[in-house]
Amino acid sequence: MSDSVLVTGVDELATGSPQPVENGSVDEDGLCILRGAALVVQDGRVAWLGPADRAPAADRCIDLGGRAVVPGFVDSHAHLVFAGDRAAEFEARMTGTPYGAGGIRTTVAATRAADDELLRGNVRRLVGEMARQGTTTIECKTGYGLTVGDEARAIRIAHEECDAATFLGAHVVPAEYADRRDAYVDLVRGPMLAACAPYADYVDVFCEHGAFDEDETRLILDAAKGHGLAVRLHANQLGHGPGVQLAVEYGAASADHCTYLSDEDIAALAGATSAGSTTVATLLPGVEFSTRSPYPDARRLIEAGATVAIATDCNPGSCYTSSMPFCIALAVREMRMSPAQALLAATLGGARALRRTDVGHLTVGARADFAVLDAPSYLHLAYRPGVPLVTSTFKAGTKVGNDEVESNGLNPYR
Ligand SMILES: [Zn+2]
Repeated sequence: MSDSVLVTGVDELATGSPQPVENGSVDEDGLCILRGAALVVQDGRVAWLGPADRAPAADRCIDLGGRAVVPGFVDSHAHLVFAGDRAAEFEARMTGTPYGAGGIRTTVAATRAADDELLRGNVRRLVGEMARQGTTTIECKTGYGLTVGDEARAIRIAHEECDAATFLGAHVVPAEYADRRDAYVDLVRGPMLAACAPYADYVDVFCEHGAFDEDETRLILDAAKGHGLAVRLHANQLGHGPGVQLAVEYGAASADHCTYLSDEDIAALAGATSAGSTTVATLLPGVEFSTRSPYPDARRLIEAGATVAIATDCNPGSCYTSSMPFCIALAVREMRMSPAQALLAATLGGARALRRTDVGHLTVGARADFAVLDAPSYLHLAYRPGVPLVTSTFKAGTKVGNDEVESNGLNPYR
């Protein structure tokens, strides 16, 4: 058993759970807030939390000096295994060229040309960047290799460096298969899946016009289920389509993007929640920001009863932010979520999108993942956009994100 650590000086603790705690108050969005709080961490878990004046004794004490504490963010959608840089594409987009799925191929070429060390260094750099902004649980997808060998090394790196690894061989049809789509789908659901499944928690498909259609998506999901992988889907990002309905039909953990939703799509997501087999609607407002696109209607989803998460979609093309605080600010400002809804979506919602019950909230028994804000309240996450409010991040009770940037001296941008 490790030393117990008492964390005091917490002016405001947002537990991220509707579960009431002594002296806490739960607001209408289900966020429990406790003022003048303390918590005890032992063996990487929350052993106790409650009013500071009733805190038990512990082996050591950390005084945060009157700051706010929130659960570590759960970033349930990120593409971190890549090389290369697409700043020029961003510049072109900002000066008039619309976003399409084809730009992914630029990153594919750079990723294939990179060695393992460079790819791993880039993932570690981004994981560190996320940790410094309060993120403690990260899902990471493949999808920039698109050969059996390149996807296999990407899923291995994702599995080793992140909390959940997702096989996304069906990200885009690579250029060499442009005239042979069927052959590429067969490769993905055959040898590529077989090589990646041992390291993968999830399968994902970019089900979108210009990427993979409904029939292709079904073939890949059926094969992945045969390997025991759970499902998540890129759905309804660039237009209306079958993605959300497929996600719910396949019992996906999450349907991601959800920018263009019909009434039937919203009913399906809400129905999945009420049936208990939740397919979370994961919204990625950084993408709409970075591609200057209309935002998803978060309010409609929440009012219908769907479970909503927000995530960064950190990737070199459509959204190169690693910042959950920035996405929270966007969710509040642009998607009209309340600050409490946005915080819950970035913590508990993300955990649900990854089917994790031990993270995304601070309750007794949960992993001791939390971010300390140089602010009196979590409200400042949206109130002070772009400000580095996270002063320290703890994962399983240990400080993370303060290491020097790990790039192994290699330049990931070339
Ligand atoms: Zn994505």
